[in-house]
Amino acid sequence: MKNERENLLKIAQKLIETGLNKGTAGNASVRCDEGFLVTPSGMAVEHMNAASMVQMAFDGSYEAEKIPSSEWRFHRDILASRTDVNAIIHTHSMFATTLACLHKDIPPFHYMIAVVGGDSIRYAPYALFGSQALSDNALAALIDRKACLLANHGMIALGRDLDDALAVTVEVENLCEQYWRALQLGEPHILSEAEMREVFQQFKGYGKWAI
Ligand code: 13P
Ligand code: ZN
Repeated sequence: MKNERENLLKIAQKLIETGLNKGTAGNASVRCDEGFLVTPSGMAVEHMNAASMVQMAFDGSYEAEKIPSSEWRFHRDILASRTDVNAIIHTHSMFATTLACLHKDIPPFHYMIAVVGGDSIRYAPYALFGSQALSDNALAALIDRKACLLANHGMIALGRDLDDALAVTVEVENLCEQYWRALQLGEPHILSEAEMREVFQQFKGYGKWAI
């Protein structure tokens, strides 16, 4: 438990160090025995320590005298419904957020789209931050996927553990930057369903992305 708090703090710090999050934007969570730990609300990472992480139960109750991330609903709902997921990262990273403002799914313009578990990164329609509606929209966009965009807001990435969720976050942000760059030059070529089927086959047993 102590370790889990420290691991979650380290991920929150890494998100700032790598520029994936800025200021108090974004949050993260990790499953633990009694429920899950989530980052505190509205706190700059430089003011956080391991004890700042907030223990929550699936009924929405949380440790006294702490305020969990305003997005605890989507953290709770994803962890409750996805047994394959033990960690969640939410960012307002530059390129994912830019594309999320277009209200469009990201098609398979690059084979690495497969790392999210399907042939697109879906966007969840806009809903108010911290709302149950945002959680409902995110859950639908995440069906059979490890990431989605949140319209006019940012992205969510899921993982088996925090390191996996961070790897997905970095890859999705990278893909969003590549797609954005390609869009500046013209109409990106989109890989076919058959080509993507072949990619999924090739990924079987391939390093950390093995599926
Ligand atoms: P919290 O500081 O409450 O986690 O909010 C940040 C955020 O990204 C809201 O969507
Ligand atoms: Zn946010």
